[in-house]
Amino acid sequence: MNEMILKFPARSENEVFARNAVAAFALTLEPSLSELSDVKTAVSEAVTNCIVHGYRGREGWITVACRAAGSTLTVEVTDEGCGIADIPKALEPFFTTQPSEERSGMGFTIMQTFMTDFKVESKEDAGTTVTMTKEFGLRRANVG
Ligand code: ATP
Ligand code: MG
Repeated sequence: MNEMILKFPARSENEVFARNAVAAFALTLEPSLSELSDVKTAVSEAVTNCIVHGYRGREGWITVACRAAGSTLTVEVTDEGCGIADIPKALEPFFTTQPSEERSGMGFTIMQTFMTDFKVESKEDAGTTVTMTKEFGLRRANVG
């Protein structure tokens, strides 16, 4: 088992840093390029949500905690922002609270599609945690 925790300010330039740091951490699990790219996309979406929705451009901290165990990567992305009032609604494809700002409402759907497991916990005015796991080697294990 291996772990790491990153904490950085909610600024858009840190989204690239976060997704690459998680990808670098995940390398010990020997992911395929496509698995790694899935993880980077999901982390990007989660971190962008913290910046855009959680803090709405205000200052705050984002925490990304990762765990590698066996062939499974767990990534937890947390903000201490406004929280989500209605989680089932927020998870619906194409649902967005910011339709005017080039948001398509697909972030959570992308995370669910690209990762093996996905969960959102949130409390209004307290913050949001998205927990995602990716099991590596699933397709390869099924071949042959
Ligand atoms: P896209 O991701 O396609 O740019 P989006 O961010 O609106 O659009 P999702 O990522 O699926 O779509 O999120 C859906 C909705 O859930 C958001 O519009 C927002 O209302 C809410 N939401 C998501 N993440 C957070 C968060 N960290 N804090 C508060 N609200 C959030
Ligand atoms: Mg989003």
